[in-house]
Amino acid sequence: MESPVPARHCDVAIVGGGMVGLSLAAALRGLPLDVVVIEPAPPGGADAPSFDERTTALSNGSRRILEGIGAWRRVASEAAAIERIHVSDRGAFAFARLSAEEQGVPALGHTITNRVLGAALDDLCAAAPRLELRRPARVTAVEPGPGSVGLTVEGATPGRVEARLVVAADGAKSLVRTAFGIEATVWDYGQQAIIANIEGDRFHGNVAYERFTPDGPIAVLPLADGRCTVVWTVATDAAPALLALDDAAFLARLQDAFGWRLGRLRRVGRRHAYPLSLTRSERQVAPRAVIIGNAAQGLHPIAGQGFNLGLRDVATLAEVIADELREHGADADPGAPRVLDRYADWRRGDRRSVIAFTDGLVRLFGNPLLPLRAARGAGMLLFDLLQPAKDGFARVTMGLAGRLPRLARGVPLA
Ligand SMILES: Cc1cc2nc3c(=O)[nH]c(=O)nc-3n(C[C@H](O)[C@H](O)[C@H](O)COP(=O)(O)OP(=O)(O)OC[C@H]3O[C@@H](n4cnc5c(N)ncnc54)[C@H](O)[C@@H]3O)c2cc1C
Repeated sequence: MESPVPARHCDVAIVGGGMVGLSLAAALRGLPLDVVVIEPAPPGGADAPSFDERTTALSNGSRRILEGIGAWRRVASEAAAIERIHVSDRGAFAFARLSAEEQGVPALGHTITNRVLGAALDDLCAAAPRLELRRPARVTAVEPGPGSVGLTVEGATPGRVEARLVVAADGAKSLVRTAFGIEATVWDYGQQAIIANIEGDRFHGNVAYERFTPDGPIAVLPLADGRCTVVWTVATDAAPALLALDDAAFLARLQDAFGWRLGRLRRVGRRHAYPLSLTRSERQVAPRAVIIGNAAQGLHPIAGQGFNLGLRDVATLAEVIADELREHGADADPGAPRVLDRYADWRRGDRRSVIAFTDGLVRLFGNPLLPLRAARGAGMLLFDLLQPAKDGFARVTMGLAGRLPRLARGVPLA
């Protein structure tokens, strides 16, 4: 009879090697821990769901976290600084502006393509001696237990993994979350985000635009190579027609909705569509388990907060684990209730306010009713004039509000 393959024992198993899971692996790699990451997409695969052609707007807090985990210096030359943010409402004469100069910072944030960031995180993880990256591999079953959590892994290096802490970074439809019996509420916005890279006659000038239109918001973000990326939110039933247009017709529609701030729009790259919903996990921890990133909260991209929030999950979890190792030495246990409770308490406020902020924006600007549109316009003009309101908003969007983990303050983890 064939003897069963012995289980691989580790301190932390991260299920999902997307943007958030790999960031956590990179953050933990300096600590004395055995870490296993399991991800279905092959390395550098074009089909990796997290590391596609999307562009992510990173807050300054996120940039610091990426600096702290060693990823930023690898991607800095391919990141574009956001020096100004311009918000407008189509059909109204209202607008609001935010500038880095006014806030006394070199940039309000940066943009980076997911593919570039993914490659940097991959390289960091591949070089870490106590980190095992299993890909392409998938977790197919989860067995919670008092001393460890058992994972059944299929694909490359199949077998059983026993972890003292399992981290669910497996996205909005998280298998791990479900295995722990944690419910998630899902609100379908009935919208899709169409993304594409575009080029206009005029240089973007490092300005990020958010334009609200009756059909949905349009975000245009600057890229390091002089192009821009557009995230155009439309009703689900309007998306197929926009995707089917030829480039010239698509650009004409976009020009009409976005306006002329980039001059004449001349070129557009491949278009992709993403269905949009709000997924909110009821809890963020279970015995020997933590739920992070999209598995804990999947947000509408309207305010570009999803990854930024997930990265604060990462920085906080890495910090409470590092503190556990320092305070308890040989008796340290990354899955101990004291670690998980501290994590859950710390994350509650930030998570709640970012979910409310993002969902509130979708509802406020998705409402075509005339009185609301008028109030919205007045609010925007007022906002543009009120410096304290701008400063508060800027701190939230720069990822510098609330109690920040060490990495987000530029302080090393250990
Ligand atoms: C159009 C768009 C624009 C966005 N723009 C921004 C922005 O500007 N700024 C920002 O902060 N955020 C933005 N976001 C949000 C951001 O992309 C997400 O928050 C982020 O990608 C979440 O990463 P994640 O790793 O948690 O989840 P995911 O990217 O969903 O990754 C989950 C990973 O788990 C893996 N997995 C799934 N099941 C299993 C299993 N059984 N076993 C092992 N692995 C598994 C998957 O293969 C995947 O790699 C945007 C989102 C969209 C849709």
